[in-house]
Amino acid sequence: MDRLSIKDLREDEIRGKTALVRVDFNVPIEDGRTITDDLRITSVLDTIRYLIHAGARLVLMSHLDKPGGKFDKKHSLRAVSQRLAELLEQNVVFVEYPLDRDAIDRIRNLTDENVFLIDNVRFYPGEEGNDDEFSSRLAELGDFFVNDGFGAAHRAHASTVGVTRHLSPCAAGFLMVRELEALEKALNRPERPFVAIIGGAKAKDKIKVIRNLFGKVDTLLIGGAMANTFFAALGYPIGASYYDVNSVGLAHSLVQEAKQTETELILPQDCVIAEKKETRAPNRTIGVNEIPPGWMALDIGTLTRQTYRDKILGAKTVVWNGPMGVFEHEPFNEGTVEIARIVAETTAQGAFTLVGGGESVAAIRAAGLQDDISHVSTGGGACLQYLAGTDLPGVTALTARDRNRSGGEQ
Ligand code: ADP
Ligand code: MG
Repeated sequence: MDRLSIKDLREDEIRGKTALVRVDFNVPIEDGRTITDDLRITSVLDTIRYLIHAGARLVLMSHLDKPGGKFDKKHSLRAVSQRLAELLEQNVVFVEYPLDRDAIDRIRNLTDENVFLIDNVRFYPGEEGNDDEFSSRLAELGDFFVNDGFGAAHRAHASTVGVTRHLSPCAAGFLMVRELEALEKALNRPERPFVAIIGGAKAKDKIKVIRNLFGKVDTLLIGGAMANTFFAALGYPIGASYYDVNSVGLAHSLVQEAKQTETELILPQDCVIAEKKETRAPNRTIGVNEIPPGWMALDIGTLTRQTYRDKILGAKTVVWNGPMGVFEHEPFNEGTVEIARIVAETTAQGAFTLVGGGESVAAIRAAGLQDDISHVSTGGGACLQYLAGTDLPGVTALTARDRNRSGGEQ
């Protein structure tokens, strides 16, 4: 690891200074007020507390959803600010839109306050445009930069990359370090056998992940709508199953490529089908090349679960991205829940396990198994991009660690 982390910063680089901190507070909020899952807030508390304790003031910034470069009350971080204050048990100054000269001066002059949160950076068109004028305005808020927003690290935006052109040093926060270390451990130093489970629906992105994992993992288990795309590529009838028509060609070549690599690519043998994608829709389990017209594959079947169970329990490293079925509707969550239990079981037996992806993590949490997995990632897209072998611009932009700094090796 050669990126600078906050642990490497010297006391004089922190004390009495203001840290501009990028976090990912993109949490689900109901009715603009109720935060239904605060994992992304609780995950960065150690970074915030560390910086406060070391004598810094903090200006936090985050996006929330996609307001499209203009103010929209619905996408305000106000509720997050209140939640953060409760969790920290201290005052958090919420800085409303717009971030004009007055607001910047207010933050600079309120020297008795040490934690500020500015409203959604995506209210400004300059954020997603990685605009230099907007980046320098953000950079005025701090003396140095800390990026702890792993979930946004795959975006080259003003708050993740642009600000690094105006501030120094630029260091990774503790969450960022934990996320990257987990991914690096799994991908670069896996204890074998290494099994990856890829499901979900985003075939276009995930097919790149599958390709990158060829040769790296010992076994690839496919599930969810991803599997349907492979069935289409193999010429099986898939009825009304959801699949990605644009990825069929690639899926076909991956099946061919798999034969030339050491990686074993395993597709489901059976699936649970229904005519409607709804809770408790009448269903049955059949072989994967027997889907009748009008029926949809909505989950992996029992034989498949058994095969996957054996592979996962035999693994020393497991990476999982994407649910095995339409887990939002019972009983089509059963395959996903069973795989979640098996991944937890193999963790208990000493395997290193990593789960990433918005819906995959939701499924793990719904099953109450988040504490039984070695690493549950807070970043969906960022995790996928890393697994696909593509650099994360928000990470690349951080200061390289100078091995002679007094912070030294960790
Ligand atoms: P993640 O967020 O974990 O990366 P994706 O976003 O790729 O996963 O996909 C999650 C979605 O995939 C879920 O909403 C789920 O309903 C859907 N899905 C999984 N299996 C199927 C299937 N067989 N048919 C249709 N949709 C599916
Ligand atoms: Mg998703």
